[in-house]
Amino acid sequence: MKTIEHFVNGEQYPGSSKRLSQVFNPATGEVEAKVTIGNAKDLNYAVEKAQEAFLSWSNTPPLQRARVLFKFKELIEKNSDELTKIIVSEHGKVYEDAKGSLTRGLEVVEYACGIPQMLKGEFTENVGKNVDSWSLRQPLGVCAGITPFNFPAMVPMWMFPMAIACGNTFILKPSEKDPSCSIKLAELFKDAGLPKGVFNVVNGDKEIVDAIINNKNISAVSFVGSTPIAKYIYENCAKNEKRVQALGGAKNHCVVMPDCDLEQAVNGLMGAAYGSAGERCMAQSVAVAVGNIGDQLVKGLKSQLAKLKVGPGMDKASEMGPLVTKDHLEKVKEYVDIGVKEGADLVVDGRELKLQGYEKGFYMGGCLFDNVKKNMRIYKEEIFGPVLSVIRAKNFEEALGLVNDHEFGNGVSIFTRDGDVGRSFSSKAKIGMVGINIPIPVPMAFHSFGGWKRSLFGDQHMHGPEGVRFYTKLKTVTSRWPDGLKSDPEFVMPTMK
Ligand code: NAD
Repeated sequence: MKTIEHFVNGEQYPGSSKRLSQVFNPATGEVEAKVTIGNAKDLNYAVEKAQEAFLSWSNTPPLQRARVLFKFKELIEKNSDELTKIIVSEHGKVYEDAKGSLTRGLEVVEYACGIPQMLKGEFTENVGKNVDSWSLRQPLGVCAGITPFNFPAMVPMWMFPMAIACGNTFILKPSEKDPSCSIKLAELFKDAGLPKGVFNVVNGDKEIVDAIINNKNISAVSFVGSTPIAKYIYENCAKNEKRVQALGGAKNHCVVMPDCDLEQAVNGLMGAAYGSAGERCMAQSVAVAVGNIGDQLVKGLKSQLAKLKVGPGMDKASEMGPLVTKDHLEKVKEYVDIGVKEGADLVVDGRELKLQGYEKGFYMGGCLFDNVKKNMRIYKEEIFGPVLSVIRAKNFEEALGLVNDHEFGNGVSIFTRDGDVGRSFSSKAKIGMVGINIPIPVPMAFHSFGGWKRSLFGDQHMHGPEGVRFYTKLKTVTSRWPDGLKSDPEFVMPTMK
């Protein structure tokens, strides 16, 4: 059986740890590979190599760095079928969805190709008499990324292309549930001409994460995962004086107004709630039915759910694949049990779904709850599975209140035909990413991605302009060249007269 190692200093690296973890194919339930679970020694070795590489990479002109990124983009495109199949085989999502997520990652590489333009800086002539001033952005050093299981290509690609384009070197700690994609990306980046040590992958779990937090030579940490771990990363990295952005969990609402195009809303909700088996941080897990639209909405969703095709990700007919692991499947089913006990109406129950020929796979059908209440756990907590809760609200204000009172603030959508309602909603929602008649408002690579409230700890969002800000530090230089003029010492704050 294949053992997935680390990738350090431009080559596969077995590391010193003997710990291994199983990597499953969720479609069959079989163990597909084992992954090395590294330790602090392995991490420290990778950091040493990344530090060495930083000396020359940070000094490489941005245009040359961009050329490597252009080549990397080409290689991703060339290998997109293989990369997509890796995502399907370890995560479980359906092929076209996996390919789409790879493309969204690729778009960040495309954006990062424009790094010479983004690092141009600002210049002012004559800030004082014969004094010029300019601001520039310099790389931080060795940066690290810790990523979740649900987007094994896209989420790492929110981070490392931007960090590396900015002149940093990078250590990625992917999810131990689906690590192969990161290794393949590291190999392709090397083939694109990236010098050794600039991009490294260390595999592991909490042990490696703690080693990242405690390594004094790592300047910045980007994290994406669940809220409790995001908070842990944020607090401990900040304590150790690192720059940190830690994106956490979500409970995204979709507000369905009585005047909306109901068919559009139902179709949007189906994809956003059940696509990727609900294992998306931008999945919509709550539909807020406003006014009298609730019964029609539930009827529409129920009839669509009856047609939802669940199956292995490589089967072209499948619309929803399995969940990532058996443990996660059990956890999601447990939430459905909890919802029933709490008194919500389970309109569609997908818990017992079995697929012929794939009896050991981690499948369940889509579930739909109606009449969910604010105080229920299935409303308050992130389930991260194919479970949609419909909650009823009397009017727009009550719907907005639900959105704003929730502890998470990642994404939200509203379906309406009323421009005034849409505008007011986007302005008043205390949420990082808002969609108007758009079910999953994930920003493009040239904007930035991030939530509010307990969906993001830190100040900067990922990729786009915020990505450049996160991975660089600002320096402002003020200069005067001798011109024969002599001045006396000045003891007051200089100001323009
Ligand atoms: P997770 O928090 O369990 O794991 C994320 C990473 O942290 C992994 O690399 C894992 O190895 C590591 N980790 C796990 N437990 C740890 C611990 N105790 N100490 C230190 N490190 C630990 O998340 P997951 O289950 O892989 O992914 C699903 C979660 O990610 C969901 O909550 C989802 O909402 C969130 N997510 C958020 C976004 C976003 O942009 N906000 C995007 C994708 C996923």
